[in-house]
Amino acid sequence: MVKAEAVHKSFGAAHILKGVDLEVAPREVFCLIGPSGSGKSTFLRCINHLEQINAGRLSVDGHLVGYREHDGKLYELKDREVAAKRRDIGMVFQRFNLFPHMTALENVMEGPVQVKREAKAVARERAKALLDRVGLADKAGNYPTQLSGGQQQRVAIARALAMEPKLMLFDEPTSALDPELVGDVLDVMRGLAEDGMTMIVVTHEMGFAREVGDALVFMDDGVVVESGHPRDVLSRPQHERTKSFLSKVL
Ligand code: ATP
Ligand code: MG
Repeated sequence: MVKAEAVHKSFGAAHILKGVDLEVAPREVFCLIGPSGSGKSTFLRCINHLEQINAGRLSVDGHLVGYREHDGKLYELKDREVAAKRRDIGMVFQRFNLFPHMTALENVMEGPVQVKREAKAVARERAKALLDRVGLADKAGNYPTQLSGGQQQRVAIARALAMEPKLMLFDEPTSALDPELVGDVLDVMRGLAEDGMTMIVVTHEMGFAREVGDALVFMDDGVVVESGHPRDVLSRPQHERTKSFLSKVL
């Protein structure tokens, strides 16, 4: 579903991704861990066309990210093409980023109505079903300020799902939450995983990675240091850098 081959990304003189290689299979829950500044968010942003890679190949569902290939040559995408590709990818951030002037229901309806030009009545029914799925059927009329952080994050997940993405990216979705609110959000993500959604999850929740993850990658300083099944990497890390990182977070 996602394939990165020697992906490089710099911001000016700062070389952040230094040749990332990894592959995410369809329906896989792919967990990405690593120290602050190692490039995890940057990598997710590249997948979602929020950043353009400088070298290497990155593809989603068999299509190159950021470029169009024609007769062996690469062409940069037009904004319209980027928007079309981004539509297939849902992203949930650490901060909930809901539209503050819209209710939970309106937040979830917004993408389908504005971007996909779906009829409002259809979008409303789907939005209700999605809010029900994330356990918030009774909060449809609440504004973001009238929701807890965990509830806001679940609305953000419902909003991403409303676009019927092929791939969901989660960037530390629970790290801004009070501890007692983390479980509900992880439960929603676990449900998504059970339904077969392909997910890349940047997280510090090692319990989630161990129980739900199919693959785990430890990234440091812009490269993949170690990868494998979460249980193996977490219980028997092979590299010193992985051991030292895990000894701090486990
Ligand atoms: P954290 O765990 O703290 O979220 P991370 O692994 O997600 O860290 P990134 O956010 O990808 O790390 O950042 C990697 C490096 O890239 C950092 O040094 C950051 O300052 C730098 N960086 C990220 N975005 C930009 C940008 N738009 N311009 C310049 N530097 C950037
Ligand atoms: Mg980050």
